[in-house]
Amino acid sequence: MFDITKIREEFPILTKTVNGKPLIYFDNGATAQKPKQVIDAITNYYTNQNSNIHRGVHTLSREITIAYEEARKIIQKHLNAEHANEIIFTKGTTESINLVAHCFGKINIEAGDEIIITQMEHHSNIVPWQLLCEEKKAILKFIPINQEGELMLEELPKLITSKTKLIAFTHISNTLGTINPVKEIIHTIRSLSNAAILVDGAQAVPHIQPNVQDLDCDFYVFSGHKLFGPTGVGILYGKEEWLTKFPPYQSGGGTIKTVMLQKTEFADLPLKLEAGTPNIEGGIGLAEAIKYVTEIGFENIQKQEDDLLKYITKKLLEIDGLKIYGTSKHKTAVISFNVGSIHPFDIGTLLDKYGIAIRSGHHCTQPIWEFYNVPGTIRASLSFYNTIEEIDSFVEAIKKSIRLLS
Ligand code: PLP
Repeated sequence: MFDITKIREEFPILTKTVNGKPLIYFDNGATAQKPKQVIDAITNYYTNQNSNIHRGVHTLSREITIAYEEARKIIQKHLNAEHANEIIFTKGTTESINLVAHCFGKINIEAGDEIIITQMEHHSNIVPWQLLCEEKKAILKFIPINQEGELMLEELPKLITSKTKLIAFTHISNTLGTINPVKEIIHTIRSLSNAAILVDGAQAVPHIQPNVQDLDCDFYVFSGHKLFGPTGVGILYGKEEWLTKFPPYQSGGGTIKTVMLQKTEFADLPLKLEAGTPNIEGGIGLAEAIKYVTEIGFENIQKQEDDLLKYITKKLLEIDGLKIYGTSKHKTAVISFNVGSIHPFDIGTLLDKYGIAIRSGHHCTQPIWEFYNVPGTIRASLSFYNTIEEIDSFVEAIKKSIRLLS
């Protein structure tokens, strides 16, 4: 049973008032709120468990090492990865992509090689590839988008050549909400090329449980904080055959087997790629967040979010001059829009006065706005704990803001 009242009670921040109004949090694409279960796990870590992992023989250290490695197994199971050592803890999606760009680039990219990304990527899945291509004199290509904000996949076979070494694309667009047909894309790539495939799952994991073996991607990356977990922790899933070939990304304590003054022998996976003391409470909190969403059930999450998406789309389209960007049939509850020539920051600032948190601007996807020829939009990104009543208040506040600004 999906009990929205009970679910909302599990998120302490949702009872907060902002500017004297009940908080309406529609900025879930930027970061999601945390359930008490996650907050309690972090508090418990610092109250009862705090010590360093992988190095102490004392009880606290041994216990927290077991808990941290247990968290890795929970994430492995969630993604259906074959081995626990294919799960690398990072700071987040951005660091996971940088890690792959650095390590893959070092062993696999030469001058004239090609990397393909798409026009709908977050800057975190563009800039690391630009830097790699610049450094190696490789070529960066793009799958374009259409007016609906969908990938023009008919272009993909034309872009792939014998020089294509890696193809990276997002599972779900943070700006347009489009859910890309990841399995179909990977199938096309595999039939034409040996290129490695990286999927940016940052916006997918709060809504979908990815099955990395079924998808057959080489890398799948995401951040804990968008999945109702803590900030500063993320995951790189990589097939073992790739990760074992990777040189260390950063080096130092934690990554080594033995160090002599002149030479170091590196540890096996996953430690080889996890330099220094990690975000221990982050890993534990992320595993707790996964337990939490699993208990709610992704079917329930998707049903609630689909209902919210239908309702907010209908209500917004009743407003004169409002244009929605991203109208794919396959999308999550993310709505990017503009009203006439009103600047998104003006509406964002007024909505804040009503206690409503949305995002205004380019949402770290400037190439999308270059395509639509607008500087940015207002973005409402909803989660399963949002309600129809909140949408009504949001739409009323938009109407009031338009009247004030016109
Ligand atoms: N990729 C996508 C699709 C995103 O939406 C985001 C953040 O909004 C990122 C990557 C970067 O995530 P982080 O800032 O957590 O590293």
